[in-house]
Amino acid sequence: MRLISSGRHHATFEFGNLQVTSLRDGYIDMPPTRLRDEDGCTFDELPTGVPLAGGNLRLSVNAFFVTDGTRSVLIDTGASDNWHDPTMGLIYDALAEAKIDPTQITDVAITHNHEDHVSGLITPDGSEAFTKLERVWIGAGDTSVFTGRLEPIRDRVVPVSEQVAINDWLTAIPTPGHTPGHTIYDINSTTGHLLAWGDTVHVPTLQFDRPNVTWEFDSNQSQARTARATLLTQLTRPHHFIAGAHLDSPGIARITPSGNGYSLEYLAPPIG
Ligand SMILES: [Zn+2]
Repeated sequence: MRLISSGRHHATFEFGNLQVTSLRDGYIDMPPTRLRDEDGCTFDELPTGVPLAGGNLRLSVNAFFVTDGTRSVLIDTGASDNWHDPTMGLIYDALAEAKIDPTQITDVAITHNHEDHVSGLITPDGSEAFTKLERVWIGAGDTSVFTGRLEPIRDRVVPVSEQVAINDWLTAIPTPGHTPGHTIYDINSTTGHLLAWGDTVHVPTLQFDRPNVTWEFDSNQSQARTARATLLTQLTRPHHFIAGAHLDSPGIARITPSGNGYSLEYLAPPIG
């Protein structure tokens, strides 16, 4: 995994026979009361080392574009203008900065149905962001999001209910917990595996150290905790990397076991 270009809103990596571009959509500020400790309680005091911005946790929001030069897939799409604060919706700028033409995107893979992942399919002016869109892969449990503003895209939704190969380097793997249809995408290049793991971790400064800590919006807390534990174990294998929707932008990292948890190593300097 080698960084080959970066800017304010993107970072592009060579990953064997593939190119992976992290696209920064922006950030979300959330109160620390969203966190749940091992007993399901909120924290009276956060452990040291968890930074706050104006009293809030600041979560990066990333999407990922993967191409082999012929076939391309965009994983997640950011929030467009569908959020109460205007801190997201930068993905269109990020695509332009990375010189990725939105009209080349035929396949979008969504990790789950929350606004910061799916809403970017529609631009702030109400039109489709990807005019040549043919397929939107999303967990079968999360397809109900395609109503209202997203209704025009419903006819291209491909529900994922079991592990399925999208192409010869991308596999969708259901990992329910954060949402019923939460799905991760295994990007398998000639040099290893990169797991675009959606919302498996929300607060990287805490949840690698303490993987049992959950997030208020995990729809099934224990299932989310188990899914995270399983993935973290897998990711300690050689040549395995993470592309995290809420890891600090650009959000490409690897982990090693450390104490009762893991230590995280980012593979590129921060952007944004
Ligand atoms: Zn999210």
